[in-house]
Amino acid sequence: MFTRDEFNNIKSISRRTVKRYSFILAFTSVVLGLCSLWFLKWVDLNFTSTVRIVIALSTFLIFLIVVGLLVIKLKHVTKLSSPKCPHCGISLIGDSLRIVSATSRCDSCGGQVIG
Ligand SMILES: [Zn+2]
Repeated sequence: MFTRDEFNNIKSISRRTVKRYSFILAFTSVVLGLCSLWFLKWVDLNFTSTVRIVIALSTFLIFLIVVGLLVIKLKHVTKLSSPKCPHCGISLIGDSLRIVSATSRCDSCGGQVIG
């Protein structure tokens, strides 16, 4: 069981961590997207149509893989950094976190989280 201050401290650390990873995800997506557009423009000017299609699809696939991995990492970090229910051990994220903040009880098992 957490005290109110401990719970708020963990919540605040989790929020900062998620915010930092969200920024990395957004920044990487935008920079990679812009680089892809620039690269595809260059490919358009220098290659034949069949090669262009292969390179464009490969570039898009690489973009999707990198952004997808960053999204998976963000979800993982969110789950790891969030406070856990001391009774059932679930990660208190989103609505569960708001419910615990308001009622001091886990919405999954009903156990007292904040004492
Ligand atoms: Zn619980």
